[in-house]
Amino acid sequence: MLVSAKEMLDKAKAGHYAVGHFNINNLEWAKAILITAQENNSPVILGVSEGAGKYMCGYKTIVGMVNGMLEYLKITVPVALHLDHGSYEGALACIDAGFSSVMFDGSHYPIEENIAKTKELVKICREKGISLEAEVGAIGGVEDGVVGKGECADPKECKMIADLGVDMLAAGIGNIHGVYPDNWEGLSFETLDAVQKLTGKMPLVLHGGTGIPADMVRKAIDLGVSKVNVNTECQLAFAAATRKYIEEGKDKSGKGFDPRKLLAPGFEAIKATVKEKMELFGSVNKA
Ligand SMILES: [Zn+2]
Repeated sequence: MLVSAKEMLDKAKAGHYAVGHFNINNLEWAKAILITAQENNSPVILGVSEGAGKYMCGYKTIVGMVNGMLEYLKITVPVALHLDHGSYEGALACIDAGFSSVMFDGSHYPIEENIAKTKELVKICREKGISLEAEVGAIGGVEDGVVGKGECADPKECKMIADLGVDMLAAGIGNIHGVYPDNWEGLSFETLDAVQKLTGKMPLVLHGGTGIPADMVRKAIDLGVSKVNVNTECQLAFAAATRKYIEEGKDKSGKGFDPRKLLAPGFEAIKATVKEKMELFGSVNKA
């Protein structure tokens, strides 16, 4: 059964480790992440962006697929199904479809509007036992032309949003989505520390986990990050393994064209990436 992310994140915050949020794109992704979480006795969060939601034929399809997998694969570790960077409408649609966790990304709104919309969602999520992530200080991406440094959130605004009763808070601390540019200046631990001091026990979320050096990730976890989002890294691992299979001509030998064979190396590559991240985040055996 899907669970809210609240309990797993509160435990992570208290235990100074982080739970991995891994974005899913299809059946192989969801299966690889769930099996790896079970094998490593780790809690896990499956992230779904609105774009991936459309790709997978809607939130209800995803809820059906993931719930079916939990039963079929006999998954007993805590699993949350979470909307990533949701709009207000998207959050409502996911709550309706059976997600156990949602993110409302109101970071592009003026802070007053972000607060008003987040407040409404806090009320709805509380009633349904669904965890809610809010965001302050937009997290940039290289695709948006951001170079050098991602945005840093205002710690006072973080406190205002945290006080609304959300369960986890994403704050921009110089992190970026996608692959980091060569001239990236690194995470702003100064910002993270200031946010942590004002928000206390609130689990903080680090987006853009791909390509942040391991020591920086560890330090961020030490400073209060309890959820790390990983997306691009699994995509790169999947693509590299699939490319290798094709380039070696394996699809042309025997029944190598069978999708269950063709997608197997990529599937294994996702598993290896997820395992490596769980070890780095310290969530192994924390289920
Ligand atoms: Zn993000």
